[in-house]
Amino acid sequence: MSDGYLPEMSGSLVYTCIGCGLQYDIYDFIYTCPECKALLTIENTRFDDLKNIPGQKWREIFDARKASNILEMLGVFRFHELILPIIPLEDIIYLGEGQTPIVKTNSELSSWVGTPFLVKNDGLNPSASFKDRGMASAISFLNHVIRVKNLDSVLGICASTGDTSAAAALYLSYLPKSKVSAVVLLPKGKVTAQQLSQPLGSGAQVIEMPGVFDDCMRIVEELAQDYHVVLLNSKNPVRILGQKSYAYEVAQQLFWDTEDLTVVVPIGNAGNITAIMEGFIDLYELGIIPVLPVILGVQSHHADPVVRWRKTGQFTPMKVSPSVAQAAMIGDPVSYPKVKKLVEQHFEDRFYAISVTEGEIMEGMLMANRHGHVVCTQGGESVAGLKKALAEGLIRKTGQFVVDSTSHQLKFASFQQLYFDDAFEADYGITTRDDLKNKPVSLDANAENIAAYLGLKKRA
Ligand SMILES: *Cc1c(COP(=O)(O)O)cnc(C)c1O
Ligand SMILES: [Zn+2]
Repeated sequence: MSDGYLPEMSGSLVYTCIGCGLQYDIYDFIYTCPECKALLTIENTRFDDLKNIPGQKWREIFDARKASNILEMLGVFRFHELILPIIPLEDIIYLGEGQTPIVKTNSELSSWVGTPFLVKNDGLNPSASFKDRGMASAISFLNHVIRVKNLDSVLGICASTGDTSAAAALYLSYLPKSKVSAVVLLPKGKVTAQQLSQPLGSGAQVIEMPGVFDDCMRIVEELAQDYHVVLLNSKNPVRILGQKSYAYEVAQQLFWDTEDLTVVVPIGNAGNITAIMEGFIDLYELGIIPVLPVILGVQSHHADPVVRWRKTGQFTPMKVSPSVAQAAMIGDPVSYPKVKKLVEQHFEDRFYAISVTEGEIMEGMLMANRHGHVVCTQGGESVAGLKKALAEGLIRKTGQFVVDSTSHQLKFASFQQLYFDDAFEADYGITTRDDLKNKPVSLDANAENIAAYLGLKKRA
């Protein structure tokens, strides 16, 4: 790679309170404003320096890094200047995250949904969800702070609907055990067996609690406020930095052409949609993309406070009902105030939100996976949301569509099984369709029998 194409340490990051605007040292472990308790965002006070490089030049730099073999340039830190320019390459922890593929829908799935679209498969991250993007930035930063401040006895902690804990446990397990340990809090019985196996396998201390995610979140917030722990939920704005890479990659994979683009994202705690909006804003302000995309947020009608806010102008936290999109089953999204601000300032005419039923989510997942994809229930939620938004005329029918499948099919195989067995509890409200079910048949190990069962014609 030629000179000037490898990132160097630059910029100056501060925490900025989204409420009162006060700024704080990025090296402090704080997650809300000590003055007014509002959320913090991270601002590069030297962002304008980046504007000295024309958009076309930035595109060339990012494309050159894409073609390189330098490990740190293969993950989210390809966009170092836009993520964490204050840390040197040697502090980056790269475990294979980011740069996930986009897959074109075939004609059958396109016509079922109402348009051809691209599925960006964030299930192909190391812990099988997009959470690895933010964990790569949060843990790289932690690694950096531990080195420069010579810290030890660091305890990383998070509450989780399953995937944050998998990602946190994985990335923390890479750091020296002599200095760092990992604790995750999960709502008992509300994460899948696969998700529970992940932090256990990575060696984290797993604490199961009664209640739902919102209850776990309240406990870690209290712990983070009163004790010396490092909070790894998306309330930690360093997570948001890495998650912005989803937007950068979409733009790069579309050859930086965001004209008439709609990006469809499931919303839970609203960290992902916050990061995606912020990512596109960065690119737009640097002249790297010509226009901001339309963002379509999707929620289950069992947990849709953001959709209700968009419809009524009124935000009220809600009590959730069971959802197969369990990773997004959140009634009081922590990052809602950020979404509100981003929408008001940048996306007022280009942010839509829609809710879908539990049955629609399952059909979205099963239909996608019957046509070459490996999407999770939240990916199914995105597919269902796109289909419904097109049918209802909520969004324009033309242009390019990118659907975020936030994790891997296999993490949510238990919901697929419940569907096939018609075994959902009544409160999901799911009526299954026989044509989408699939079950193994048991036959004797006998070719003739199997051929007869399949109705095969014998060769002449
Ligand atoms: C966390 C998660 C979501 C929700 O993302 P938020 O940032 O909480 O809105 C959606 N899908 C999957 C698979 C997740 O793990
Ligand atoms: Zn404040």
